[in-house]
Amino acid sequence: MLFNQGCVVREMNEAGHNVIGALGKSGLDTAMLEALPGVEKAVPIPTPFKLVSRQWHPEDTVVQVGNVAVGGQRIVVIAGPCAIESRDQALTIARAVRRYGAVMYRGGAFKPRTSPYSFQGMEEEGLKILAQVREETGMPVVTEMTSPSQADMMAKYVDAVQVGARNMQNFELLKCVGRLGKPVVLKRGLASTIKEWLMSAEYILSEGNDKVILCERGIRTFEPYTRNTLDLSAIPVLKQLTHLPVVIDPSHATGIREKVSPMARAAVAAGADALMVEVHHDPDNALSDGPQSLYPEQFGQLTRDIYVIAPVVGKQLDFSYLDKAAEESMQTATQGKAIKTAIMGEIGTFSHNACIQYFGDDMPVAPKPSYRAIFEAVKAGDTQYGVIPLENSLTGSIHENYDLLLEYDLSITGDLTLRIVHHLIGKPGATMDELKTVIAPSQAIDQCRRFLDQHEGWQRVTVNATGSAVKAISQMENNDVAAIGSREAAQLFGMAVIETGIETNPRNYTRFVVIAAQPRSNGNRKRSSLVYSTGNQPGALFEILKIFTENQINLVKLESRPIHGKPWEYMFYADVETDVTTASFAPILEAIRKKTDYLKVLGAY
Ligand code: PEP
Ligand code: MN
Repeated sequence: MLFNQGCVVREMNEAGHNVIGALGKSGLDTAMLEALPGVEKAVPIPTPFKLVSRQWHPEDTVVQVGNVAVGGQRIVVIAGPCAIESRDQALTIARAVRRYGAVMYRGGAFKPRTSPYSFQGMEEEGLKILAQVREETGMPVVTEMTSPSQADMMAKYVDAVQVGARNMQNFELLKCVGRLGKPVVLKRGLASTIKEWLMSAEYILSEGNDKVILCERGIRTFEPYTRNTLDLSAIPVLKQLTHLPVVIDPSHATGIREKVSPMARAAVAAGADALMVEVHHDPDNALSDGPQSLYPEQFGQLTRDIYVIAPVVGKQLDFSYLDKAAEESMQTATQGKAIKTAIMGEIGTFSHNACIQYFGDDMPVAPKPSYRAIFEAVKAGDTQYGVIPLENSLTGSIHENYDLLLEYDLSITGDLTLRIVHHLIGKPGATMDELKTVIAPSQAIDQCRRFLDQHEGWQRVTVNATGSAVKAISQMENNDVAAIGSREAAQLFGMAVIETGIETNPRNYTRFVVIAAQPRSNGNRKRSSLVYSTGNQPGALFEILKIFTENQINLVKLESRPIHGKPWEYMFYADVETDVTTASFAPILEAIRKKTDYLKVLGAY
């Protein structure tokens, strides 16, 4: 019937529903469509862009570029020079940005320059160098395609193509990259509206390629102090209009080196999924865009700042992203079985969220009824990893897990800090006035004490995890029971948020660690966790701390736990900012061993 009406028809499956998109004809009678057998709902999409719109695809799209997922909860940092100038230049910059946290590499081989006398790029030679960068560093590579005639070369050498600002409305090029099927970074035109930009994205999707990343790179305004004006408000506007991920390019947006980092930080705070930053080791001699290129060290400082900012907005910058991706694909290849991670309680818990932020959206999870059950699952090889909380900034250590780390012979292979924002969650339509009971784990009750004390009449029921609490209310008939949990849990179980942000202090962070049967085998390990006991003689603890100090080892955490059966003797858990498993650390470890009754390395990660 839709065909008869002259519509182009697209089919997809969205969250278990079959969705049929009818494109090209307005004014279809929705009531008539809904009367057809098998049709649950007919929704008109009022915007001129259809396939890119949120109505068409309510969930965020995650664009996979090689091992890297753009649009998930991990901030993707793309970095590299404006143009590939030589193999040496490309690799020098690549090694530096990789070390500082970039997970994807950029570099132009075909440069659209304002002047025909400026350097035009190394063309195919440049693409070959990009492929070598990927080989050597493991970073997927993205480069600009300026003409459909380059399609075969792009297919051969690179992981993603960029459509430059000047080509945003080059419709033949858009159709071509749509057919090419590679992920596309679509830059916003210098003087294009968001609607025009989304219509350009629609060209690519209408060719069957939905792997589009939108790149805001500044627009032309009357302001001459910066090269362009970075439109950060485009981020929340796009997040509402479209499901496509958004990358911010603060380099072309500002054109001035020292303006790049502040805008990059702001972009992450505003909800950008990714950053694309120009970096050059010798910007004074760069063949293009030197004045806006960061020095590698400045880029390193920026990623450290982003690492701190990202958790505030519920995301992560992951310095071992590529190492982990390589390790996972290696393990799946050698063991032939799917990797799984054990988490506490239920899906939708903060542990689940931590797992997603650490491993990405596609990590399958195995919920367990207790922390001990997580350790058991990893020990038995039922799951390769477990994610457990170790400490919370408001309520302190989760002692049980420190004790389990000692008891089991497993390794810490990674850590991450998650901001914990608690919501009061109820049945859809439930109001605060009708509540009689609130269910939550005891830690969540502690973290929301001030809010709960204003509702003393509510009965408090404890369960083992926030996800379990939200699941429990979803299975109840009555509206008078609420749960405390995350927005994700509310969504997952179809529940509604009654009150947002009820934690007493918004600086509420939990540090999680990842445990595995084997130590982390690859990547650069920055931190280690140790546990030791000293016996009960004077100065024993000081002796160990002295060794750390003398070797300039930064101690970031020290926690003591009573030893069972030995009153007034303690185990010390220490986190240090170094890799204690290296050969150069061995003598220091030996010195510590001599001063302790017991010493165990819990992991380097
Ligand atoms: C570039 O990324 O180097 C570039 C030329 O960008 P834009 O198209 O945004 O000017
Ligand atoms: Mn440039």
